[in-house]
Amino acid sequence: MFDTAIAGSLPKPAWLAETGKLWPTWRAQGDELRQAKLDATLLWIKAQEDAGLDVIGDGEMSRQHFVHGFLERVDGIDFEHKVEMGIRNDRYKAMVPQVVSSLTLKGRVHEAEARFLRAHTTRKTKFTLPGPMTIVDTVADRFYGDRVKMAFAFAELLNQEALALQADGIDIVQFDEPAFNVFLDEAADWGVKALERAAQGLTCTTAVHICYGYGIAANIDWKKTLGQEWRQYERVFPALAASSIDQVSLECIHSQVPPELMALLAGKDVMVGVIDVASDQVETAEEVADTIGRALQFVPRERLIACTNCGLAPMGRDVAEAKLRALAAGAALARQRLGAV
Ligand code: ZN
Repeated sequence: MFDTAIAGSLPKPAWLAETGKLWPTWRAQGDELRQAKLDATLLWIKAQEDAGLDVIGDGEMSRQHFVHGFLERVDGIDFEHKVEMGIRNDRYKAMVPQVVSSLTLKGRVHEAEARFLRAHTTRKTKFTLPGPMTIVDTVADRFYGDRVKMAFAFAELLNQEALALQADGIDIVQFDEPAFNVFLDEAADWGVKALERAAQGLTCTTAVHICYGYGIAANIDWKKTLGQEWRQYERVFPALAASSIDQVSLECIHSQVPPELMALLAGKDVMVGVIDVASDQVETAEEVADTIGRALQFVPRERLIACTNCGLAPMGRDVAEAKLRALAAGAALARQRLGAV
């Protein structure tokens, strides 16, 4: 009961890349960089195990950014001539690559780090990929001329990599779709279908992570405009409940998401965000257990997974490590409170 997992990313060590940034510059190149990425992956596998987490990820040490890490292995994208684009409905500007021709994969995207992860832990493993709708919102289209068409083109490529990750021995393949919280009608209309295309044929556990973004200033300011009740999930959860996706990751602690919206996910495992990524304040075990308790009003105990609200990438390493320990301690306390240990 109450498995513990992270949403995906963890802070990169200062010797691997710039710290505190979402698009950090690598410290090394070539073979040296390849080795440094795996060294950092090993460090975080150990830290997650030491903290007591049940599901272990690679911490996304091998990608510069959660979307661009995938795009770098796609042919048909011009990375040389990036353009500035407003993303997530103009919430912030980013320099993004351009889609200039029909899309194909150059080969495997995450083989090295996925196999490395599988080889270095005996616990359950999770690997994250960006979702099709979020990718479409993070590149400039100069070829398809249609968001849906381009999303399904990306979904096919994601599916190839997801099937290969499964063959590498990964237990849970998760797609990150923060765009579902921004383009509400489109998410329910075609976003979930594109997601299912990306997950087609997978027999491992499948998951989707939907959040209000990393704890960066643009996102914190945006959240202030969303009012007292954040009901974005209300639009997409029914479509997800009817979908083939097994697990849904959502924000809970310190958010204005009404907890009753979790009831819309009947039949799914729910990864409840019990660790805030927008604050360096480390949660107490009591706070985490209380958040789990609130979620239990709407999620059956056997379906609840304790998770972080989003990735921890832009945080300090010591804060992130303390938050991993708080996550495991809080889940243990919640089990104790229910007399389950
Ligand atoms: Zn997130």
